[in-house]
Amino acid sequence: MINIKDNLDKIKAQIQQACQQSGRLIPYTEQVKQSLPVSLLAVSKTKPAALIEQAYLAGQHDFGENYLQEAVEKITQLAHLPELNWHFIGPIQANKTKQIARYFSWVHSVDREKIARRLNQHIQDDNCHNTPLNICLQVNISNEESKSGVAIDDILSLADIVNNCDKLTLRGLMAVPEKNAGNDCYEKMQQLFIQLQKHYPSVDTLSLGMSNDLPQAVAHGSTMVRIGSAIFGARTYKN
Ligand SMILES: *Cc1c(COP(=O)(O)O)cnc(C)c1O
Repeated sequence: MINIKDNLDKIKAQIQQACQQSGRLIPYTEQVKQSLPVSLLAVSKTKPAALIEQAYLAGQHDFGENYLQEAVEKITQLAHLPELNWHFIGPIQANKTKQIARYFSWVHSVDREKIARRLNQHIQDDNCHNTPLNICLQVNISNEESKSGVAIDDILSLADIVNNCDKLTLRGLMAVPEKNAGNDCYEKMQQLFIQLQKHYPSVDTLSLGMSNDLPQAVAHGSTMVRIGSAIFGARTYKN
């Protein structure tokens, strides 16, 4: 049987090691253990609520989901757990923005103006949402035809739109580099992130790194890794 707590511990050790190797941490002490500069998002898509609850009981409070309908079912099932933060990380269709705004506290995959404006409008209309919605812009860093994400040249104008939406807080950038992408791709993301931070004081999040590229992402300034299969096991269907 899969041991979620062991897997979480292994990932945290891997983050710690990657931070040290890339000079982002002084060698291990109890003190730095408290302040890892990289947070862990557990990606629970396709996995049942019972496994998410196991991770929660092991101290994991941030979870990422890609598919809205599946996510809403699990969010509803786990509504009794306090301080659980849901992050939407999948492609966004405009007709899904209302539910995304209602159920999630973070959205990593905003890649066009229409989506930003609709999320902002829904929160305005939906009085129960009392904190700003945290937004990362998804960047099409590998410039792939098929991938979602804003083009590099359009990041700043989209950032400006999000920044001007009063129910949204611009937190940073997200990317899914293509498999076996070289370091230049990660360096570019790091530069874009630093550049965005100079423009907007609210920007503190570079959402980069998955089960297969965690060390590479951490070496290039990632502040949040999104880890699925290394925590919950391989998924049985695509994605
Ligand atoms: C599925 C997914 C992840 C997690 O991928 P793993 O390889 O299972 O760690 C991270 N980010 C996004 C956007 C995903 O769709």
